[in-house]
Parts: sequence; structure tokens; C-alpha cells
Amino acid sequence: MPSQDEELTRFEILDSNLRGLLQRDTVANIIRRHLKKDESKLREFDLIRADENMTSVSVDSNKMLVLTMLLGQVVYEALTWALNMELETDLQLSTCQFEPRGGGQCPEVLIRRGAQRRSLESLFAQLSITWKDGIFVPREAGGDGGGDGNDEDTGELPRDSDLEQDCDEFRVDLENWYCDCIQYQSSIDLKSLLLDKSTADVLQFNESNHDNFIWQLLYQSRCNQLVPSPICCHLLALLIVLYNYDILDEESILVANKRTT
Ligand SMILES: [Zn+2]
Repeated sequence: MPSQDEELTRFEILDSNLRGLLQRDTVANIIRRHLKKDESKLREFDLIRADENMTSVSVDSNKMLVLTMLLGQVVYEALTWALNMELETDLQLSTCQFEPRGGGQCPEVLIRRGAQRRSLESLFAQLSITWKDGIFVPREAGGDGGGDGNDEDTGELPRDSDLEQDCDEFRVDLENWYCDCIQYQSSIDLKSLLLDKSTADVLQFNESNHDNFIWQLLYQSRCNQLVPSPICCHLLALLIVLYNYDILDEESILVANKRTT
């Protein structure tokens, strides 16, 4: 069983790699990275003089790799959610960033799957082009672009078939580190240790991790916490949003306030 020190180190790795995981880049550059294994398609793309000014959310591949080594496939699923979800909450996401608040001030968040999944075809659509008969052609206004219909995966995201299909709405409670999905429940390891906040190691770790958002969430939680922490794609997606809120703010993610009436 790994020592508690190793588990604490995981929080440092998580914090430093969730921070800055999302960036902004031009849509053209994002497409080029996805086409790098398809030389002929990449050559065709560079021939069309695509708009080099339009930007979108991009992923830092090095940070993505580290997170995947730490947590596995759930990171890809979480990224899919983070790039395509609707949030309903009283939580002010912009002010919550890096400021976990204990004492019941951190309401739960309702997460729903959004309508626009990131794919290569959706990136082409942003540049008003589509891939048809071996070349890029202008996308027809109002139509589906007339592409070959192969809505290819971007390579950084899992296909929908990899995701849960039976439910599209989950409640995440950051303060109590909880989600009501099956993935979260099944990630609770009976061999997990209870986080003892009174040990010298933990107190010392906390002293040097006041700015570690994910650690402070757990440390300030009034609930008992386990190490390793149970995780699911929804909880992780919400963390990705909070850590990278400034990048996502310009995207069309709907953040609706929960109705209190
Ligand atoms: Zn979940």
C-alpha cells in the first residue's frame, strides 16, 4: 500500500497539471495537430489558407499525459465533459477559482451533457469548411456541410460509446467531494486510508499547499476524506472548469443559476 506521503504528492501533481491544462490556440493549429498522422489531409488543409485568427480551447498535451498516467481513462472522459457540458448551480464559478470555501458555502453543481461534442468535423465547421471527396470544400450555409459523414474523433477525446449513455445529469458536491454517479461509487477503494489531518506530515504539507485548490477542498472539508480520493469524470470535469475558468469563459458553456423558487 502506498504511503500517505505518496498520496499527498499526488495532490501536488494534480494541482500543477490541472492548472493550465486548457489553453487557447487557433482552430487551424488545433486541426493541424489532429491531422499530423494524416499527411495528405494535412497537405490539403494547408492549401486552403484557413482563417488563422479564430481561436478555440486547446489542451496542453504534456499535462494531459501526466494526468492520464496518474488517473487513467477518466481524464479523457472528464475532458469531454469539460468541453461540452451545462452547469446549473448557485456557485459563482469565476470567484470560486482557487478559493475553496468550507462551512457549507459551496453548493452542489448539477452537470448536464451539452449538445456540441468536440470533433474534427466540428472544428472544420468553425472554419466553414468540410472534407468531401478527398479535398476541403466550403461548408454549405445552413446544411451539414455535405461532408463524408465520418465525424472523426479528434484523437484527444473518447468516442461517445466509451461514455455512460444511460444518464446525462449528475450532482457534484465539491465541498463533500461527492458525485451521485456509479463511476464515483465504484472508485471507492475499500483499501483506502482515512485522511488524518492531525499528523505532522499532513500539517506540514498543508503549510506548503495553501494555494493548492484541490488539496484545500479536501483539507477544509468537514467530511472524512479518503486517500486515494475517489474520482469520477464529472467531479474531475468540474475541477478542470474551475482550474481553467478564464479559458473556458469565452466558450458557449451554459452556466445557469439554480432556481431557488
Ligand atoms: Zn460522477
